[in-house]
Amino acid sequence: MTAPQHPALTLADPELAALVGAEERLQAETLRLIPSENYASAAVLEASGTVLQNKYSEGYPGRRYYEGQQNIDLIETLAVERAKALFGVGHANVQPYSGSPANLAVYLAFAEPGDTVMGMALPMGGHLTHGWGVSATGRWFRGVQYGVRRDTGRVDLDEVRDLALRERPKVIFCGGTALPRTVDFAAFGEIARETGAVLVADIAHIAGLVAGGAHPSPAGHVDVISTTTHKTLRGPRGALLMSGEEHARALDKAVFPGLQGGPHNQTTAAIAVALREASGPAFRDYAHAVVANARALAEALLARGFDLVSGGTDNHLILIDLTGRDVPGKTAAKALDRAGIVVNHNTVPYDSRKPFDPSGIRIGTPALTSRGLGTEHMAAVADWIDRAVEAAGTGDEKTLAAVRAEVADLMSLHPAPGLPV
Ligand SMILES: *Cc1c(COP(=O)(O)O)cnc(C)c1O
Repeated sequence: MTAPQHPALTLADPELAALVGAEERLQAETLRLIPSENYASAAVLEASGTVLQNKYSEGYPGRRYYEGQQNIDLIETLAVERAKALFGVGHANVQPYSGSPANLAVYLAFAEPGDTVMGMALPMGGHLTHGWGVSATGRWFRGVQYGVRRDTGRVDLDEVRDLALRERPKVIFCGGTALPRTVDFAAFGEIARETGAVLVADIAHIAGLVAGGAHPSPAGHVDVISTTTHKTLRGPRGALLMSGEEHARALDKAVFPGLQGGPHNQTTAAIAVALREASGPAFRDYAHAVVANARALAEALLARGFDLVSGGTDNHLILIDLTGRDVPGKTAAKALDRAGIVVNHNTVPYDSRKPFDPSGIRIGTPALTSRGLGTEHMAAVADWIDRAVEAAGTGDEKTLAAVRAEVADLMSLHPAPGLPV
């Protein structure tokens, strides 16, 4: 018997502690390919579990509504300064609770209910919060949406420009949640200037690639940068809003008191730690390795006859269209899960199936790269996906179990950051 990982929790609530332990084992033994997920470092996890969470600190450093901020002010200032330095911006707000509230704060800062806003359509790769109908952002604003071309699977910037000139949105979002290709921030910047819109780069997925120099930076091309901190950036669950000085006040007012109460100080501290990690040379290597792994994985999947949206990837993410394999996305995702490979089903552009059971699966390399897998492993990963998707079609549970064992073997050789060994 080894000592329990979480002694106080085990003593106080063994039932819950057992569930946490089970999740630790699951994250250790499986190949996690969901492109928005990652492994935060032990240092990030420690910071986010500290007594900082006991403190209320509505307001901003030096301008609080509660006393006792001697340490909190220094912590938040550290996070803000690190964000500004890492992303090359004049202003950063580190308080948004997550990516969705960060985007809502942007609307609150720059638009009124009923105004026209523009973003990429959800089934084309955009995010719910970019004005999609079921989201508050699509109900309280008039969302107009661009997509990708049917023939290339890529954003058509002429279409974006025409739509923006016709609809005159107050706010334009670029970036998305299922986009395998580089976002042309400079081109979006020209369109926004021509049409008088506030341009927001939502880099939730690619923030770590931007920080590590593996994707062009939006800084200097856009008015606002919105990002989560827990995807490729490898921090705690949280978000950042960044801009030049001219939008600083509007953004800060929108986050607090516009939308939120007290900031989550333990998260702010963990964001500061993650930003420090992301500014080192090892993180640059990480970001480039994520992209190299995704390219190698895309090549290996193409070689096995898979159909990839846009024909490949420039970043960390691959969208597989399973239409030609005759296996629905959800069936494939569930079979892969039984094989120890965790993905999500996803719509593909112009999907012929319904959103709750679409034609695609979405995968990515951030988490596997965090555990040290390299391009030399991507043929094996593609092979596992191929065998599992084939087995999903034929109901071959033996193959799924065999793949699961092979996956667990490789994972045991590559311990993940932040997990007990
Ligand atoms: C993940 C994501 C968000 C939302 O982040 P949450 O933390 O899940 O609320 C917003 N925009 C994009 C592009 C995302 O990928």
